[in-house]
This record gives sequence, structure tokens and C-alpha cells, in this order.
Amino acid sequence: MADCLFCRIAAGEIPSQKVYEDDQVLAFRDIAPQAPVHVIVIPKKHVMSSMNDYDARQGEVIAAVFSAIRKIAESEGIAESGYRIVNNCGDDAAQTVKHLHFHLLGGKFLGENIC
Ligand code: AMP
Repeated sequence: MADCLFCRIAAGEIPSQKVYEDDQVLAFRDIAPQAPVHVIVIPKKHVMSSMNDYDARQGEVIAAVFSAIRKIAESEGIAESGYRIVNNCGDDAAQTVKHLHFHLLGGKFLGENIC
């Protein structure tokens, strides 16, 4: 989508600090990191604006995203120490970019409270 920030990053129109890429998935460092490791993981194609758009047809791309997250946790050195995966969906979750994405957070003790 032309007006979608993460589509534009996926297309290389807006620069990003890429940490992982395969045919379906792109991951890059968050511009305003909230942890020592804060990576945004997206399907390259705008298959969903949020998890509200999910149905079983997107199962393959979601599996690809989570396979990528597992690899990135390893390459970022947080697989053993632990990490958090966050998906913000909609207004109450303060979702600002309407292109499905997951936050991968780690590199410190993240606390016991999820929110
Ligand atoms: P959300 O609130 O879940 O929609 O998260 C959107 C995330 O995108 C926020 O954590 C922003 O800091 C991050 N973000 C916004 N613009 C960029 C950008 N150009 N490059 C990397 N991350 C970005």
C-alpha cells in the first residue's frame, strides 16, 4: 500500500536498520527502541492491517513470521536469556502503524507486568 510506512520500508523507499530478511518476512530495528533489543518483524506483503484481519489463509505467513522471530532471537543473542513478543491490535493497544507487525523485545529483564 502506497501510504503504508512499513510497506515503504519493505520496498526500500524508507531506510531501516535491517536485521533479517527472507522471501516473506522483513525485520528491522525500531526507531524508538524500548529495550536494548527492539526489532519490528513484518510480513513484507500488506496481508493484514492488524490481527483483526487474520483468517486461516494467512497461516503460512504467520508461521513464517514466527520462524523468523525464533532465528532473530538467536542472532540477537537473547534466545537463552529470554524475550517478549508483542502485537498491538487497534486503538486500546495503541497500534500506530496499520501493517501487521510484531515487536521482539529483550536484552534486559523486562519485568513481570505485560502492561
Ligand atoms: P505500534 O505502536 O505497535 O504500531 O508500533 C509501531 C512501531 O513502529 C513503534 O514502536 C515505532 O517506534 C516504530 N517505528 C515507527 N517508524 C519507524 C521507522 N521509520 N523505522 C523503524 N521503526 C519505526
